[in-house]
Amino acid sequence: MKRNWEGVVLKVMGAKDFTLEVTGSEEITPDFLRVHVRDGGLLGRSGLHPTMWIRLWFNDSGKAHQRAYTLVNASPADGTFSMDFAMHNGVAADWARSVQPGDTIDATVQGSSFTFPQPAPRRIWVVGDPASIPAVNSLLDERCRVAAGGTPVTAWLEYQHDADSSLEVRTSDSDVVTWLPRKRDGAALVEEVCAALTADTVSVSDDFFWIACEASSTRAIVKHLRKEIGVDKHRIDALGYWRV
Ligand SMILES: Cc1cc2nc3c(=O)[nH]c(=O)nc-3n(C[C@H](O)[C@H](O)[C@H](O)COP(=O)(O)OP(=O)(O)OC[C@H]3O[C@@H](n4cnc5c(N)ncnc54)[C@H](O)[C@@H]3O)c2cc1C
Repeated sequence: MKRNWEGVVLKVMGAKDFTLEVTGSEEITPDFLRVHVRDGGLLGRSGLHPTMWIRLWFNDSGKAHQRAYTLVNASPADGTFSMDFAMHNGVAADWARSVQPGDTIDATVQGSSFTFPQPAPRRIWVVGDPASIPAVNSLLDERCRVAAGGTPVTAWLEYQHDADSSLEVRTSDSDVVTWLPRKRDGAALVEEVCAALTADTVSVSDDFFWIACEASSTRAIVKHLRKEIGVDKHRIDALGYWRV
């Protein structure tokens, strides 16, 4: 399976390649599947950080397509982790639907990094959806680990399937989570989030913003934070997780 120029660029950037072996899979909901793998030495060589993601290489008619997935329940001691797949029609989602124990998949580690902000923020504002729930949970776990009592979180999570809102989100009592149905190509989410994030509700100097939803929604929310409220880019961690 040929990786074209993307593979070459990643190699030049010092990317590390691994082969993962599937040990099983489970249905969390009909639209959200978890795949368990042996790590092929990945955790030992690359370490582990909150919200860590890797690039998986999927075969589509002989051509390699890379897609990003977040590590779940990683165990460096056992050399295992899992990945959660939000379902739609695509090469990655199709692979997760049909995967069998013993199947292998190539993975590359390059580009993932995250350090919890210090000093701990006054509040963390999160925008995500099922694709970023594994990373959201990793972020929530880390804020409990880093700061006793934990920084409070306000999160908006966009959903497309009824069962999505049953997905585990590891909140604490001080957090506020709102699930919103995806409407008008994401405009409903953007409007609700931007209406709530104002100079009156946000502390520009003390809050942190973690945004990972559909790419154009992510861009619109970041633009609002930067242009309308004047949030410094260092207080924003934003990445479009998928695109329409
Ligand atoms: C850093 C990072 C970490 C990520 N971690 C995860 C993760 O842990 N779990 C996870 O499920 N996803 C995760 N994603 C998102 C995932 O990489 C994308 O959803 C990817 O496009 C899926 O590839 P595919 O081949 O299945 O679909 P594609 O071939 O990319 O797309 C096929 C069709 O499906 C639509 N589509 C793609 N993704 C979604 C989606 N999430 N929701 C609705 N429609 C979609 C597209 O618009 C397109 O119409 C992550 C993305 C990034 C950038």
